[in-house]
Amino acid sequence: MAAQEEMITPKENENGMEKCYENYILIDVGANLTNKKFGRDLESVIQRAKDSGVQKIMVTGTSVKGSKESLRLTRIYPNTLYSTAGIHPHDAKSYTDETWLELRRVADNPECVAIGECGLDFNRNFSEPEDQKMVFRKHIELAIELNKPLFVHERDAFTEMIEIFDEYKGRLPPVLVHCFTGTYEQALEYLNKGFYIGLTGYLCKDKSDTGVRKLLENGSIPLERLMVETDSPFMYPNTRASKLPNHVKDGLTERSMTFLHRYCTFQRNEPCSLPAIVEMIAAFMKKNPEDVALATSFNAMKVFGLS
Ligand SMILES: [Zn+2]
Repeated sequence: MAAQEEMITPKENENGMEKCYENYILIDVGANLTNKKFGRDLESVIQRAKDSGVQKIMVTGTSVKGSKESLRLTRIYPNTLYSTAGIHPHDAKSYTDETWLELRRVADNPECVAIGECGLDFNRNFSEPEDQKMVFRKHIELAIELNKPLFVHERDAFTEMIEIFDEYKGRLPPVLVHCFTGTYEQALEYLNKGFYIGLTGYLCKDKSDTGVRKLLENGSIPLERLMVETDSPFMYPNTRASKLPNHVKDGLTERSMTFLHRYCTFQRNEPCSLPAIVEMIAAFMKKNPEDVALATSFNAMKVFGLS
């Protein structure tokens, strides 16, 4: 790929910037590729992602078993897939000291680039809040010990999450708040703490005037703190959502829409929907999608140490 790309002569775009690539270079920092929905055709899913511009994908580990499986996938697709190791707050009740040792061993591998998915989800409370808090603290301590970033999930638990993070003040590794769905004020507080924000197709669903869209529209999230993810097979970016402003719909290119509509559905979102997500984010921020792609990829490479 690289040799071919170098043959394309750089041309100037409207801003006088050099533009060397026809396609975006993107990193999907969160895809649940161990989900059984990808059991039959993972190879094609990954190929389509690459064709769409998604060069690297972080496969989310949400249980001990899932984290092992994510790590296994990184060995099949080296330098394309990376993994995380964690227990989703929904699954906190499954925690045992024995399986935690297994998770530790998985997390210690170089292909495992973050600790998580971990955190607090008081929206559905599939596990007791006290169990969730205990297991979340275990993850934070492991991340500090292994010096790996945290991949965090938070739903309706903002205050408690901040309280727990404050217990570890000054010792925290980089933190990514993945699939952010909170309010504008909550995002500002995360940013204040130096955390990164991960955005998904949720931005098509966000109907509030006080959430993700406001954050992007008024420019309060700097590109240096943004990462992008699909959360596949979830969080399908519904570009036909009626509340999506026209200027955002207009920002979508035919190319990204082809990948989105040909391969992704509400039932199964895929990493190849990431270009469409990035174009919408860029339109809300009134920036070039190329700049958003470049910055978010750079952030992912830096924070997670991707090769
Ligand atoms: Zn999550």
